[in-house]
Amino acid sequence: MSPVSSHKNPRVEVLIHQALPKTLTYLLPEGQAAPRGTLVSVPLGKKKGFGVVLGLSNENIDEAKLKPIEAPLELPPLKNALLDFIMWVAEYTLSSPGNVLAMALGGQSVLAAPKPRKKKEETETLISPEKHPLSPAQEVAANQLVEDVKKHHFAVTLLDGVTGSGKTETYCEAIEAAMAAGRQALVMLPEIALTTQLVGRLAKRFGFQPALWHSGLTPATRRDTWKAVAEGKAKLVVGARSALFLPYADLGVIVVDEEHDGSYKQEDGVIYHARDMAVVRGKMEKIPVVLSSATPSLETVLNMRAKKYQHVHLPERHGQAVLPRIHLVDLRKEQMPRGGWISPTLQNAIRECLQRGEQSLLFLNRRGYAPLTLCRSCGYRFACPQCTAWLVEHRDGGKHRLVCHHCGTAELYPRSCRECKKENTLAACGPGVERLKEEAGKLFPNARIAVMASDTQEHLAALHQTIAAMEAGQIDILIGTQIVAKGYHFPGLTLVGVIDGDLGLQGGDLRAAEHTFQLLAQVAGRSGRVDVHGRVYIQTVQPQHAVMQNLAQYDRDRLVETLIREREKFAMPPYARLATVTLSATDPAAGKEIAKKLAANIPLQADVEVLGPAPAPMAMLRGRFRLRFLVKTAKATKIQEFIRNWLSLVKIPHTTRVSVDIDPQNFS
Ligand code: ADP
Ligand code: ZN
Repeated sequence: MSPVSSHKNPRVEVLIHQALPKTLTYLLPEGQAAPRGTLVSVPLGKKKGFGVVLGLSNENIDEAKLKPIEAPLELPPLKNALLDFIMWVAEYTLSSPGNVLAMALGGQSVLAAPKPRKKKEETETLISPEKHPLSPAQEVAANQLVEDVKKHHFAVTLLDGVTGSGKTETYCEAIEAAMAAGRQALVMLPEIALTTQLVGRLAKRFGFQPALWHSGLTPATRRDTWKAVAEGKAKLVVGARSALFLPYADLGVIVVDEEHDGSYKQEDGVIYHARDMAVVRGKMEKIPVVLSSATPSLETVLNMRAKKYQHVHLPERHGQAVLPRIHLVDLRKEQMPRGGWISPTLQNAIRECLQRGEQSLLFLNRRGYAPLTLCRSCGYRFACPQCTAWLVEHRDGGKHRLVCHHCGTAELYPRSCRECKKENTLAACGPGVERLKEEAGKLFPNARIAVMASDTQEHLAALHQTIAAMEAGQIDILIGTQIVAKGYHFPGLTLVGVIDGDLGLQGGDLRAAEHTFQLLAQVAGRSGRVDVHGRVYIQTVQPQHAVMQNLAQYDRDRLVETLIREREKFAMPPYARLATVTLSATDPAAGKEIAKKLAANIPLQADVEVLGPAPAPMAMLRGRFRLRFLVKTAKATKIQEFIRNWLSLVKIPHTTRVSVDIDPQNFS
């Protein structure tokens, strides 16, 4: 690429929105201009492709072999800062730039010519904004955030406030300042389900509907929203991680709400962490980034201590509300009901809550009815034929099935054992939320009970209904997985019961303790958010565990200290860098062969350690066998360079897929 082309007919370099090994060169038809950032449609073999012009090209290819671009699309061009961001993300995650571009283009529906349709009536009714006066602590915090927005420079601030302290109210000031300066604001949330409640709240606060961006939008809405963002008409965008890649005309601030949340990590396709990439985008757009959390990630805490991030603090709940008291229920000492999971202590608490007309939340991070089905006669356990995973029994919606939570395979609940063929021998082992609902229903027959478990698109409407019913006080006991743990504000909710506090501590995950603490602190934070004293009961068989003790004593800082020292001692991130390289193939022998070759070609480098290959904990996923290397390097080492170089030494056939995860969070 160079500013002047020496060829007779100008040619341009185009990045295609697909995983191609390199950019392609096209001729520019006479009289046509296509400056850097122009979106174009181009011939691609016999098909049509889409791409973005990166600039003029000097590539020495015979002109006869080149095809002209078809036409610039009727879409605003991508700005330099976005193009730079796309390239940076591709480089960092070792992905193809075309795949990152595809995220920025928001899918085929944005690129396709719009179908003529009836003009939508203007639904945007303006209401007058409803703004609460800030408390003194909120005011101090908000002023700091607003200052950075006004200065219009890059700065990252941790907005660190206990649950219910008014972090949302506080970051709204930064959003308002950005909009007042004529710029746009982006609020990122870890899950689609959360967007609904926040969008409603922001609409009230600012007097107009924010634009929504997530994977559940219709094609027409996607296109409209994408254009509105690119033209600067969408002033406030609320979205899941993909909203980070939109072509903002003039972004003024990015807020990452619940910044510690694991759902910010995208685990397939381009594997990236949206919180980390938000900081990068902020740097490239030269704008402030606000990371908001009651339980910040260790990485963020360390960046704050190293003075890379600023810190504002809201130590108390807003108004009359106080943090709920957290009781540990020692399951070793309770007389547990037969075939039940709600301890007598928790039962009593729920009963009192019902008598006072208040709401309870029972938290169990397991979807379905039972996580395991086994044959009482021969001991056979029902596993997914495609994955290293047990099939989960589901009974909801009158459909009795066994489902794999990893590949989605579902079968009708069998009448006989797959192995010994005997009938009526199958037993459900352990509880899921549906089974818990059954138990609660028997204990409290007059209570109105609902389950909130799935964040998938097909269930989104039902989810919204449940949220609305909970807000309106039409539910007495809500039972839910981690999707209810986060962010929601249910004024009538005063009791939280955690059914299995130890669930997340099992397994050897590097971040198991940190994530369990964050999740349980979040779910505890749903209780007593208005003025009634809230209570939390955590059922556990290890009440002495540091996570449980620090939860009960609200001593986040002590746990953070312990975890930081551990990471330092074992030279784990952020004191070192990690990446996984996972090979997968339908033929286990073929995968092994490539793994062997890679193992034999590991470049020797003093500050790099490569472990493996070993079967991934999920040794089979969707019918593919998986082998894994773990790469660990010193902090200053360019881990991407090492991996790129290493992978280039071995020819990898199409039948074996290689996926690289830089800064892995999930080791399954
Ligand atoms: P967080 O995001 O820290 O969990 P929220 O912003 O959701 O806290 O605030 C918790 C509750 O307190 C919400 O209902 C919110 O409207 C209310 N609240 C917070 N700050 C104020 C304020 N300054 N004036 C009135 N209500 C407030
Ligand atoms: Zn499966």
